[in-house]
Amino acid sequence: MTDEKSGSMSRILGVFAAAGSMTQYSDSLNSDAEAVYCPDDGPCDAVGSSRYERVDLHCHSLCSDGSLPVSELINRAAAAGLKWFSITDHDTLQGQEEARALAAQTDDLHYVTGVEWSAVWNGVLVHLVGLDFDPNHPASQTAATRQLRARRKRAVRIAQKLDRNGFSGVEDWVRSEDAPELPGRPHFARHLVATGQIGSVDQAFRRFLGAGKAGDVKSHWPEMAEVIDWVHAAGGQVVLAHPQRYKLTGRKRRQLVADFAEAGGDALEIAVPGMPPNTKQLLVELCVDHGLAGSSGSDFHDDSQHWLALGQVPALPRNIQPIWEKFAI
Ligand code: AMP
Ligand code: MN
Ligand code: MN
Ligand code: MN
Repeated sequence: MTDEKSGSMSRILGVFAAAGSMTQYSDSLNSDAEAVYCPDDGPCDAVGSSRYERVDLHCHSLCSDGSLPVSELINRAAAAGLKWFSITDHDTLQGQEEARALAAQTDDLHYVTGVEWSAVWNGVLVHLVGLDFDPNHPASQTAATRQLRARRKRAVRIAQKLDRNGFSGVEDWVRSEDAPELPGRPHFARHLVATGQIGSVDQAFRRFLGAGKAGDVKSHWPEMAEVIDWVHAAGGQVVLAHPQRYKLTGRKRRQLVADFAEAGGDALEIAVPGMPPNTKQLLVELCVDHGLAGSSGSDFHDDSQHWLALGQVPALPRNIQPIWEKFAI
C-alpha cells in the first residue's frame, strides 16, 4: 500500500470511528431482519488484522438499488486501496463493462465481474453472488434477460398488491418512464416515501415489502441450482450471499448450505460487517464440512448505511480458503 493509499484508508477508518455508536440495521430480505450491530469500539475486526485482505466482493450501484454511480464506487475502492473489487448489482450485468474499464485506469485494483442473482431454494428467496464469470457468455446473457423479465413482471405484481392495500398510483408509476428499468423493493419503498404515502423506507419494508407482507412476491425467481449452473457455464464462482440473513431454523440453514454445496456452489460469504461471532462460527464449520471457500463483501448500497463503508470487511478466518484464490484472472 502506498502512502497515499494508506492515507485514504486512514480517512475512511476515521469516518468509521466517528460513525461509532451501536447501530441497528434490519434487512428484511426475508423479513427475518436479523439485526446487525456495529460495536461501539469500531465496526470492523479487520482493522489491524494481518489478514485484512483489502477485498470487497459485494456492493451495489445505481444500476440496481445502490445510490452511487459505478464511477464513484470505483473511485472509492481505489482510494481504499482495495486489491480485489466487484460491483454485484441485483439481476443485471449493466455497469460491468464500465467498471472494468475504469478499474483498468487505477494502479492496483483488480476488478472482478460480479452480479447478485435472485433465486429460490425450497420457496425461500436466496441471493447468489456470481464472480469472475464471462458477462458476454450466452449463459450470462440469457440469465440477465430472464432475470430482467422476471423482475419487471414481479414489479407489476408488487405494484398491484400495493394499490390493493390502500396505496394509489403505484402500478401507473411502475409502468411509466419514471420507474427504473429493474425495479426492486427499495425503489417501491422510496416511491411511497417520495409521494407522501408512507413515512419512511424502513416502515415500508416493515409493513408492506418484507417477507410475508403484501409486496413480497418471489414466485418469478429461478431455482438456486439453475442459477449456480448459469455462473459455472460462464466460467465463474458462486457465493451464497449473506447466509446469516435468511429466516431459517438452524437445521434448515445447514440444509441450505448442504444443498448449495451439492449443487456445486463454491463459497459462503462469511467475512461481512457485523456478523455475530456464533453465527460466523457456524458458517465457518459449514464451510469446512462442505469444502467451501469463503468470500468477503460489504453489501454496500449507500452512505445512509453509516455503519459500513466500501471495503470495510473483516478478515476471513485462517482455515478458510479465500474465493479470490480461485479466480481465473
Ligand atoms: P429485491 O431485490 O427487490 O427483492 O429487494 C431486496 C433489497 O431490498 C435488498 O437487496 C436490500 O437492498 C433491500 N432491503 C431489504 N430490507 C430492507 C430494509 N429493511 N430497509 C431498506 N432496504 C432493505
Ligand atoms: Mn439491495
Ligand atoms: Mn442480497
Ligand atoms: Mn447485495
